[in-house]
Amino acid sequence: MNFEYSEKSIALQEKLKLFIAKNIHPVQKEVEAFHYDPLNAWKKWPGLEALKDKAKKEGLWNLFLPKGYGALSPGLTNLEYAPLAEIMGRILWSSEVFNCSPPDTGNMEVLAKYGTPAQQDEWLRPLMNGEIRSAFLMTEPDVASSDATNIETAIVSEGDEYVITGKKWWSSGAMDPNCKIAIVMGKTDFEAPRHLQQSMILVPMDTAGLTIERPLSVYGYNDSPEGHAEILLDAVRVPKGNLLLSEGKGFEIAQGRLGPGRIHHCMRLIGMAQRSLELMTQRVSQRSPFGRTLDTYSSIRQEIALSRCEIEQ
Ligand SMILES: Cc1cc2nc3c(=O)[nH]c(=O)nc-3n(C[C@H](O)[C@H](O)[C@H](O)COP(=O)(O)OP(=O)(O)OC[C@H]3O[C@@H](n4cnc5c(N)ncnc54)[C@H](O)[C@@H]3O)c2cc1C
Repeated sequence: MNFEYSEKSIALQEKLKLFIAKNIHPVQKEVEAFHYDPLNAWKKWPGLEALKDKAKKEGLWNLFLPKGYGALSPGLTNLEYAPLAEIMGRILWSSEVFNCSPPDTGNMEVLAKYGTPAQQDEWLRPLMNGEIRSAFLMTEPDVASSDATNIETAIVSEGDEYVITGKKWWSSGAMDPNCKIAIVMGKTDFEAPRHLQQSMILVPMDTAGLTIERPLSVYGYNDSPEGHAEILLDAVRVPKGNLLLSEGKGFEIAQGRLGPGRIHHCMRLIGMAQRSLELMTQRVSQRSPFGRTLDTYSSIRQEIALSRCEIEQ
């Protein structure tokens, strides 16, 4: 496979780096301080919308959606987008500025690929405009969810509605005040063949019976404002028209959704690791224990070299 970057991707990489240097680096400390303050839990940093408008005007918007989606897409392949995700990952919160942050990216791709015109009009359009955010509810506390065939949430057909009952956790983004819609994975047929039991359904976050039980933390961080929520679905009723694709297609949709999403995550994390390495190399030339800078100690140099190799591996 040819991993050379196209001219289009290279031009966008330069544009993105410039935008980040001009608009994001200068406010980075302010944004982080805002989100580390417990008084600001689940609040958005007030300057975010202005930055989003700016990025949109400069054409740095929805870059993640591959060109197979025609008019909805800015026309990049996943390969062309990968280095852009890496650049955004250098400052993790920056991807929202470009409407390229998870879980919205995967959810938008699901809606673009499988949504009906009505579902797209109601949810994809505001998501692509950056007006709302979304969550993806697959993982459950009571079953080993790395094997998604295990999930137990029931989606039961009743007249014109589906009734959804279950418990979810690690629902990233669900704490965000702008999170208005969840894609929920559950089972419509517990007796069908293993990979045809699951379905996916759109559940507005303000539907009766959907309760956010608590935010979870990762390595001690609550990841405000998006967070990762534990959610109770207690006989949640939605119209039949909220089902994505058709009954039994949930596993198929999940595979399609998580594939590109995992690559995006990995590329962002490579960017973050590379930036951490750069900060480390700066730091060791500035600190001087026992009369000489850290970068003159061979063990420190070995550790840094090892980190560089590990990023490459
Ligand atoms: C920060 C964060 C954000 C998340 N966001 C979301 C989200 O938005 N929506 C959502 O639905 N879920 C989300 N998740 C959940 C995530 O997708 C699950 O944690 C993951 O799928 C694993 O499921 P589990 O936690 O049930 O682990 P389990 O399935 O219980 O796995 C238990 C252990 O088994 C290991 N294991 C599994 N398979 C194998 C194998 N084949 N070989 C060897 N070991 C194996 C795992 O590594 C793990 O250590 C998030 C998780 C985190 C940490």
